[in-house]
Amino acid sequence: MPISENARAVLERRYLIRDEHGEPVETVDELFHRVADAVAAADARFYPKADVASTAKLFYELMTSLDFLPNSPTLMNAGRPLGQLSACFVLPVEDSMEHIFDAIKNAALIHKSGGGTGFSFSRLRAKGSTVNSTGGVASGPISFMKVFNAATEAVKQGGTRRGANMGILRVDHPDIMDFITCKNDTKEITNFNISVGLTEAFMAAVESGGSYDLVDPASKKITGQLNARAVFEAIVNSAWQTGEPGIIFLDRLNRDNPCPGQGEIESTNPCGEQPLLPYEACNLGSINLVNHLRQTAEGYTLDRGKLEKTIRAAVHFLDNVIEVNQYPLPEIDRVTKLTRKIGLGVMGFADMLLYMGIPYNSDAGVSMAKTVMELVQTIGHQESQRLAEIRGAFPLFAESVYRDGTPLRNATVTTIAPTGTLSIIAGVSSGVEPVFAYAYIRNVMDNTHLIETNQILKDKLAERGLFSDALMREIVEKGTLAHVPGVPEDIRRIFVCAHDVSPIWHVKMQAAFQEYTDNAVSKTVNFPNSATREEVAEVYRLAYELGCKGTTIYRDGSRDEQVLNIGKVN
Ligand code: UDP
Repeated sequence: MPISENARAVLERRYLIRDEHGEPVETVDELFHRVADAVAAADARFYPKADVASTAKLFYELMTSLDFLPNSPTLMNAGRPLGQLSACFVLPVEDSMEHIFDAIKNAALIHKSGGGTGFSFSRLRAKGSTVNSTGGVASGPISFMKVFNAATEAVKQGGTRRGANMGILRVDHPDIMDFITCKNDTKEITNFNISVGLTEAFMAAVESGGSYDLVDPASKKITGQLNARAVFEAIVNSAWQTGEPGIIFLDRLNRDNPCPGQGEIESTNPCGEQPLLPYEACNLGSINLVNHLRQTAEGYTLDRGKLEKTIRAAVHFLDNVIEVNQYPLPEIDRVTKLTRKIGLGVMGFADMLLYMGIPYNSDAGVSMAKTVMELVQTIGHQESQRLAEIRGAFPLFAESVYRDGTPLRNATVTTIAPTGTLSIIAGVSSGVEPVFAYAYIRNVMDNTHLIETNQILKDKLAERGLFSDALMREIVEKGTLAHVPGVPEDIRRIFVCAHDVSPIWHVKMQAAFQEYTDNAVSKTVNFPNSATREEVAEVYRLAYELGCKGTTIYRDGSRDEQVLNIGKVN
């Protein structure tokens, strides 16, 4: 099976096992065999006559064809002594010194293994309240977040990748105003994404223009009231300035909590796509949609037959990962295996639309999102049911919201991950985001600049005899194709980049995927630098109206250090 050059380069740089001198001790091919063999081995636990070798071959082909890739920790750690395979964890933070510092230690262990952690700080007593044992004064959730942040910073050095955290505070926590602005100094709390946990009561008060109660988590007493619109405006203002905080709709996470008897969902993983119970872990995997297109005389269409096969194999793969995973704590092992959540999603969606000739910001684009994700959701659940027949339902099935239906192996099946690294390995657009830029400049070592061009655009322009370096340079400088005279109208309409897609279409697309996703959708709504606060507020309101579980915005240029720049020739 040929592995693309791109995939090989990224894997060689980041994921191969290395010896003490930093030299790789495996090849890319051996990496995929290591992962396929380790994950396939779980079959033997369920079928006495399991043909583990043929499952290993299936998984090897699934990955090396780049039809599907599991999340990074699985690629890095499967079949190795560490054996920690999940990207997502949520840890509880209870209101005592022991618990706070236990959570910091546990997070450090998770970061070391390549996983990310989410926390709700809502249970910590407010700044200024009393500490019974000492008679002193509590320093509040934000001061403790700084300690979590510092610990993450220290662990960065020795870990397999940068530790990432999500920090959530309920909108009715007395320290909420400090939380909203805690990252306005962009050098603070840099190892966290932060989101405000909004409630239905709060949204109703925003609607009516009324006030809502602040509740001290320790005493459960009402400590004051705030005007909901003023708080909403503060969130919008801060997000407009720095991109943070994001928002999550806590009641929606809990409305879709498949096992409410286990308690409340109060946080997600770092990028927001995976709501989890305290101590729960989840492993993700993403299907490369570009590889599920079929070329016909009329152009490209979705190859539903192939996609169905990939979905089934991917669910089988991810359920096996739960079995062979070595969890960083006994409690995580226990809790994770009660619900057996997996998160199957897609990547390369925007590229798929380019091949099909459908603009991302169109009704046809949104409709294709629903077609694809409905299939992933339906077939994914069917495969989880098939696995349940052989392997048994997830242990909490009888008390889950699914209890009156067909037994399921997994309490959740679908999640849309950002696919930051996976999409680079697969060489496709990330997750369900639009293409960020079609041409950009890359600095190479001897100070020369290379123009990197999106291959799909390159082919399209070449087909029409329009490709030239001068044209690509113009696209780099303008950032989009929208105002480049040499590009025909029909190509401009289809090859839209993140900044050509208006914020409303970003949200519509997120909502379309959410409709067929058990967990949540990782999505950033991009704004031009000139966007107003009111436009940001409109997107937050629309995300609520259209049924999203939360949202994150980013206004171009609003942070000093920005990973991707458009229109910049360095
Ligand atoms: N993640 C992390 N650190 C990182 C990148 C990702 O902990 O540097 C975790 C985090 O929980 C995130 C999840 O992995 O939400 C999935 O991210 P992504 O899809 O970008 O990961 P990939 O598998 O592509 O590396």
